[in-house]
Amino acid sequence: MRLTPTRADKNEKVKNVNLSTALLNPSSIHGGLYAPTKLPKISAKAWRDLSALSYEKLALAIISLFKFDIDEASFKKALRRYKNFDRPNIPVEFKRLGKNLYINELYHGPTRAFKDMALQPFGEILSKLAQKRGENYLIMCATSGDTGPATLQTFANAKNIKAICLYPTGGTSEVQRLQMVCMPGENLKVFGIKGNFDDAQRALKTLLASQNFKSELAKNRLLLSAANSVNFGRILFQIVYHAYAYARLLKLGKLGKNESFDIIVPSGNFGNALGTYYAKKMGAKIGKIKISSNANNILTELFTTGIYDLRNKTLVKTISPAMDILLSSNVERLLFDKFGAVRTKELMDELDKNKFYKLKAHELAALKEDFEANFCTDEECEGYINSWAKKGVAIDPHTATCLKMVDSSRINVITSTAHWVKFTPSMLKACDVKVKGGEKEGLKKMAEILNDTVPKAIDALFDAPILHPEVIAQSQIENKILEWIKK
Ligand SMILES: *Cc1c(COP(=O)(O)O)cnc(C)c1O
Repeated sequence: MRLTPTRADKNEKVKNVNLSTALLNPSSIHGGLYAPTKLPKISAKAWRDLSALSYEKLALAIISLFKFDIDEASFKKALRRYKNFDRPNIPVEFKRLGKNLYINELYHGPTRAFKDMALQPFGEILSKLAQKRGENYLIMCATSGDTGPATLQTFANAKNIKAICLYPTGGTSEVQRLQMVCMPGENLKVFGIKGNFDDAQRALKTLLASQNFKSELAKNRLLLSAANSVNFGRILFQIVYHAYAYARLLKLGKLGKNESFDIIVPSGNFGNALGTYYAKKMGAKIGKIKISSNANNILTELFTTGIYDLRNKTLVKTISPAMDILLSSNVERLLFDKFGAVRTKELMDELDKNKFYKLKAHELAALKEDFEANFCTDEECEGYINSWAKKGVAIDPHTATCLKMVDSSRINVITSTAHWVKFTPSMLKACDVKVKGGEKEGLKKMAEILNDTVPKAIDALFDAPILHPEVIAQSQIENKILEWIKK
């Protein structure tokens, strides 16, 4: 199978690419992305067979159906990265929380956020491709806290890859900061940026557009790629765990004949939710995909009114920072799948130009066939965290946004995206607990409340050497990066 640009002019002949090309150069023409035009369909009988498989085998079976230009052995090797997760053969924990309520825990990887689910195997594949081609790639990311550690972790010591992360100083949790500044790897560099996440992201965008920067990279034989969810390579691995949720329900005998269930997804850039949508299109019996947001509720507005409106909106800082996003990149792939490349280009051009677009009534109806959306305030999230903590269940502030959308008359699966240890101060506040001392003491206290243990790797961060101490002004970024590259 090949992938198609999501934007095109009327009657324009576009060039499809194979997966390896889309992994190394994730942007397509007119500023668009790459997406599949058709998803492989899995029959009811085949789903039953899949439900007997381990996570890794299920992943391999699903990915193989796409018939991409990367061989099965490479994917198999990439999926072996899941061996570094808490339970080696079970990277995802699917648990029952109550009547009709399940939780799909995706945070048992090395950096404790669901980003590991895709970035771990993706890093392996990308490095292998670069080696095969004899090319060297620079991966840069701006992070509000979860993408940074997961990107660094997957590329640490990877051949033919250098990775740089920019994080806003004071804008991440202490654990997230330590995960980055303590990450070993000769090919990694981390800078704290004076400013907020938007500043870090803007600085990165300016840099990517700089001619001087590009020619300096070329002199050093470095090509640029991206590891965020604009890269289809990320999305591919994100289909699997939603399919796994369906497979688990089948295996447990929880679904009647032709009965469907709903999946609730805490959303920001919409990569995770897009994976759910693709799993549904592949035949998983998913009814509604429920998009949960925090106070940055632009997706709630889109799926209820058909309007995407960036005018007069500013980013609100919440206790679920990984969802503090207004420009949600992967919505574009959904528009492409529903309405085609010409209409998608029209809408995205409008958004670029007017910071606004409005879907037609029949288009909104088409989205509503698959999606519902709602949002939670921080106070509501704190209430959910508190009441579940009393039952001994840890719900992080991102996952907490899901709880408002639970419908107890049907089977609902909550997608859990982060481990609570990354957000201890918010967890403590939600539970009305004050702790003397710093984050380390807070972690201990919160673990007590939840009757949980702090993962060893997180505990060790507090005594680890700081390898990337630099905090720099936005004006220094380009020079500092070039200095490091030339070393
Ligand atoms: C990245 C992230 C999200 C948002 O996921 P998208 O795929 O960008 O929608 C939600 N929760 C956590 C904890 C995250 O790290």
